[in-house]
Parts: sequence; C-alpha cells; structure tokens
Amino acid sequence: MRLRGIGPEVLLLCFLVVGAAAFALGRRTARARRVRSNIDYFTGLDHLVNDRFDRATEVFSRLAKDSREAEIQFALGSLMRRRGEVDRAIAIHTELAAHREAGIREQATLALGLDYMSAGLMDRAEEKLRSLLGSATYRSAALEKLAWVHEQQRDWRGALDIWRELPPEDQREHAPVAAHYCCELAEAALLTGDLEGARAQIAAARVHDPASARTTILAARLACAAGEPAKAVDLYAQALAKSRAIHDAFIGEANSVLGPHATDLAQRLRERPPLDETGAGEPARFRCDQCGVSSVTWHWRCPGCRSYDSLQSVNNRAL
Ligand SMILES: [Zn+2]
Repeated sequence: MRLRGIGPEVLLLCFLVVGAAAFALGRRTARARRVRSNIDYFTGLDHLVNDRFDRATEVFSRLAKDSREAEIQFALGSLMRRRGEVDRAIAIHTELAAHREAGIREQATLALGLDYMSAGLMDRAEEKLRSLLGSATYRSAALEKLAWVHEQQRDWRGALDIWRELPPEDQREHAPVAAHYCCELAEAALLTGDLEGARAQIAAARVHDPASARTTILAARLACAAGEPAKAVDLYAQALAKSRAIHDAFIGEANSVLGPHATDLAQRLRERPPLDETGAGEPARFRCDQCGVSSVTWHWRCPGCRSYDSLQSVNNRAL
C-alpha cells in the first residue's frame, strides 16, 4: 500500500485542508442561499404591502420550502387564509402549534382560531381562542376575537360575558358596545312580548351608555307596548333630536307606532327641531363616517367596517 510511506502528521494535515475547504464552500453556499432568501422575503413583503396576494403567496411558498423559519410559515399561513385556502392555512398552523417554543405555539393557536373563524367553524374557533385566555401575550387579542365569535352567532349574552372579562379601562372604552348588546337583548324581548325582560335590558344598557340613542328608541317602543303614549312621544322626541341621522332613520317608525299621537311628536319636534334641517323630507340615505359605506337603510353597526354608531345622514351633503 502506497500510504505506508506517508507519516501520520501528513495525513492529519490532509484531513485539515480538505475539512477547511469543505467548510468554506459550505459557508459560501449557505451565505448565497441566505442572501437569496432575504431578497425573496422582501419581494414577498413588497407584494403584500401592495395587496398582490397571489404573487406574495408564490414567493412565500418558495421560501417556506427551503426554510422552516416560523416567521415565514406564519406569513404563508395568513396569506392562505386571506386567499380563502383555509385548509392549507390550518395545516400550516397546526404544524406550528406543535413547535418547541411556547411563544410560537401560542401564536399558532391564535392563527388557528382565525382560520376556524374564516371557515365558519365557530365552536372550534372558540375552543382555540379560549385556550389563550391564560396567555399574557395573546389574552387581549383572544378576547377581541371571542367577542366577534359570539356576535356572529348573535349570542349577545356570551358577548357580554366576554366584555366582563376585559380589564376595567377596556370595559370603559367598550361600554357603548356593551350597551348595544343589551339593546339587542331588549329588542328580542320586545319581539316576544316580554316587556319586563325588555325593561331590564334597557335599564342595563343605560348604565353602560347613558347617552345611547338606541336605548331611548327602545324605551319609546316599550312605552308604546305598555300603553303609555305620552311617555313614548317624549322618548321619541328626545331620541330624534339627538342627530339628523337618528331623525331620518326613525321618524317613519315613530309616526307609525304612535298612530294618532304622531301629531304630538310633530309638535314637539317643531319646538325642538333636529340639528340640521337641510334636505329634510328627502328619502333617507346614510354613510359611514369611518369607512364611507353608503346605505339607504339604517344600521346601528356599519355593515362595512363593523363600527357602531358611525352612520351619518347624507341628505344634506353632496355624495
Ligand atoms: Zn363603516
């Protein structure tokens, strides 16, 4: 054997040289791959910022093949959800929910909650979101999404329970929303003729938001149902004087519900007209002051952006 003449020192040197060369080559390839990945990552972000979801998905899919980095997997997962490919989003987030890092597991659980909400699987969404209520990082996001889950199911008691879980300062900030939940319950009670139930919910709504126009409208309906027309006239007059939008949205209802007592309301409104009379008498039209959605019907909550009390009358403005 020819190796017999070579000393151990020379052999060791050969091994070191080959090892160093392989290391340098490997580093160069890894660095090149990393540079390429970074370019792809920023290209993907650029597509995302400019709402080019299909192209962003292409880039992040390519990145996700080469890299198991959680950040890239999350980007791909939320893109899949936004494109309506919820099954693929769920598959990505389920894998991330088994990650060795607790922070990534929690982030994946929140993402799964959003995936199930998108798929309309509200019970599964609720289960995922509830499991985050003990998380210091994700509790407040989970509560916000849980409120939406209950609202979607018109489970107003459940939504109120979530509101009670909020810290005191957030409860104060969202008190008008809690008042709307109570109003929903009051409306349901009025529809079934449960006047006492309606009265209790109206009282609760007033505690949450003493200035709520919706509560005053409901109190007027309750007074009519309870055979107290003078009180109903008084409450409708108060509510309709609050804003031009409330006037336009509810004058028809008030006249119809009050019947012969509608003339008393007309008299009261003449004494204390709504804030702006321009355009009065035209068919009602409304626009959300948050997102600009237009509507010919009244909504306490904007159908576009889900803001409460954001619709304004546009009869007196150029569209
Ligand atoms: Zn809106």
